Amino acid sequence: MEKNRLHSFAEELHELKKQGNCRELPWITQQGNTIRKGEQTSYNLSSNDYLDLARDTALREEFLQSLDKDNAFFSASSSRLLTGNHMLYTALETQLSMMFGTENALVFNSGYHMNMGILPAICHSGTLILADKWVHASLIDGIRLSKAPHFRYRHGDHAHLEELLARYASRFERIIIVTESIFSMDGDCTDLGYLVSLKHRYANVLLYVDEAHAVGVRGVKGLGCAEEQDCIAEIDFLTGTFGKALASLGGYLVCRQVIRDYLVNKMRTLLFTTALPPVNLMWSLFVLKRLDGFTERRQQLHKNSELLKQQILAKGYDCHSESHILPLIIGDSKTAVLKAEDLQRKGFYVLPIRPPTVPEGTSRIRISLTAGIKTSLIHQLAASL
Ligand SMILES: *Cc1c(COP(=O)(O)O)cnc(C)c1O
Repeated sequence: MEKNRLHSFAEELHELKKQGNCRELPWITQQGNTIRKGEQTSYNLSSNDYLDLARDTALREEFLQSLDKDNAFFSASSSRLLTGNHMLYTALETQLSMMFGTENALVFNSGYHMNMGILPAICHSGTLILADKWVHASLIDGIRLSKAPHFRYRHGDHAHLEELLARYASRFERIIIVTESIFSMDGDCTDLGYLVSLKHRYANVLLYVDEAHAVGVRGVKGLGCAEEQDCIAEIDFLTGTFGKALASLGGYLVCRQVIRDYLVNKMRTLLFTTALPPVNLMWSLFVLKRLDGFTERRQQLHKNSELLKQQILAKGYDCHSESHILPLIIGDSKTAVLKAEDLQRKGFYVLPIRPPTVPEGTSRIRISLTAGIKTSLIHQLAASL
């Protein structure tokens, strides 16, 4: 009886296994730069700790020393709307708006909460969403939940976006263009300056840019691609995560005051969840205050990425990355899995990325570099490809 009720789940899993697309949570231990899996130890090339801040023991020690134990709480015990809105939120949001030069900022429990919540809060029946075809799952969920009409323009295809705008701009009260600055799976970058110029051609267009992979890493002060391309003030919803280069947890939006006030009234994933623990806010603030001082790490990361990209191209792979995320496009899922296992045996912890995360037929190995990797190791990796 029970067997029959659950049978279709098992069948579907079996089907996924046959295609080489079945996922499992890995049994691993992180130790500094390395991943231990069974008897194997390999260099971690799948981490989002791009500046090596999360594994920086000296930085952590400095933070722990600065911590006032009497105020170190590990739970907020309530949502921000009730009693969870610790003064540290104000400190963190003030720090963000000061650094970005915006009117205000808003911090969320994670990038996922942020992207899943903003669009449903701000869209109404007169809103049209135009999103890059390859935006992150959290943005896709936000689009779905918003119930707003939407189109996904071909990845990075300006002509397609312009065509959609020309056709629909006058038929909607408001249009929101949604993109990332550095794309998670290809590591390519968006021309934000172009999107800003496009926005200025219409009176009813707003820009929403997710800098999850760029904050900390790009720009002289580490504020992301919008800083690098000098257009922070032109982006209506400029967002990022604390979970990657910033070595913490949480999402942030820097924006105009009116947008913040509106979200505080309307955004369900901000309101109906327990606020971040005060110790987490303290750590985020601690890292953020030091962000502009990590210039050397940013430069090193950039050098490492240039070097590996050259090597990947020299091996005959196609690679359009413009960042520290470097895909090795394999095609078939099973081949990608075997290739990843081979590289792991050779000492490099890389993972296969398969559909539905990436389009069918473009399964890949995703290499995610960090600032601290030694040049000799990059050469060794290239020789193993
Ligand atoms: C990682 C990521 C997120 C999610 O952020 P979390 O803080 O990890 O929930 C959102 N958008 C993009 C583009 C990401 O890569």
